[in-house]
Amino acid sequence: MYCSPRLTEALLCLFALAGWHCAEPDVVQERAMGERESFDLLREQMVREQMEARDIRDPRVLAAMRAVPRHLFVPVDERPFSYTDRPLAIGEGQTISQPYIVALMTQLLHLQGGEKVLEVGTGSGYQAAVLEAMGTRVFSIEIICPLAERAGKTLEAAGYENVMVRCGDGYRGWPEQAPFDAVIVTAAPDHIPQPLVDQLKDEGLMVIPVGDIHQELVLLRKRGGKVTEQDIIPVRFVPMTGEAEKAPGH
Ligand code: SAM
Repeated sequence: MYCSPRLTEALLCLFALAGWHCAEPDVVQERAMGERESFDLLREQMVREQMEARDIRDPRVLAAMRAVPRHLFVPVDERPFSYTDRPLAIGEGQTISQPYIVALMTQLLHLQGGEKVLEVGTGSGYQAAVLEAMGTRVFSIEIICPLAERAGKTLEAAGYENVMVRCGDGYRGWPEQAPFDAVIVTAAPDHIPQPLVDQLKDEGLMVIPVGDIHQELVLLRKRGGKVTEQDIIPVRFVPMTGEAEKAPGH
């Protein structure tokens, strides 16, 4: 196999060449340590090249992206690609979002720490971990129960204690825990679900992809009972399923 001298490619080659089949137990441990260090390097490179070199400026977001081990939220066979500039498959036909999009959506929420955040679309649990690393309490809903269960276990094993994951349709939010300082939606409905707007505190922010074939990332702001919307960038998310597909006006 040809290995390019560039850091990412060299490390990916290292992972590809390191077959587990020939490992003795002590070698496995050493390799695991080497792997962790390689992932640390890849994560640092991800933050520099995919975030700082673009428009991610919030130091708290950059610190969170540096802190959360994304590879733990990715299926084992996809792990070597954890820090590449793209979404990855996580099973059940779903994806973990591209790292830059996770950072951008987090930055748009202007979190200071101490907020209560609702996430619709837990997926792997990675975005929820990033939100916890920002010092918030996270309530996350996932419509595919095996994903919700797996994300809950991953978050627990990785030590994220301020995330509650529930299996269900996030279209109606989490009324028992409302109101929220911020809402983040990581699956695209073709309209903004009114229950999510209702569960947002005054002065609260929501970031949500809206559309079907053409989607736009929308930042919604509630102020003095008034709601304003700002288009941020075109995006491509998996569709929001469940009630979003049946809602009136659909
Ligand atoms: N935030 C996730 C992460 O960090 O891995 C990525 C989420 S993935 C792009 C979108 C997720 O939204 C999928 O897991 C999908 O099953 C879920 N989803 C779709 N419709 C939903 C709904 N109505 N309620 C809750 N989750 C939903």
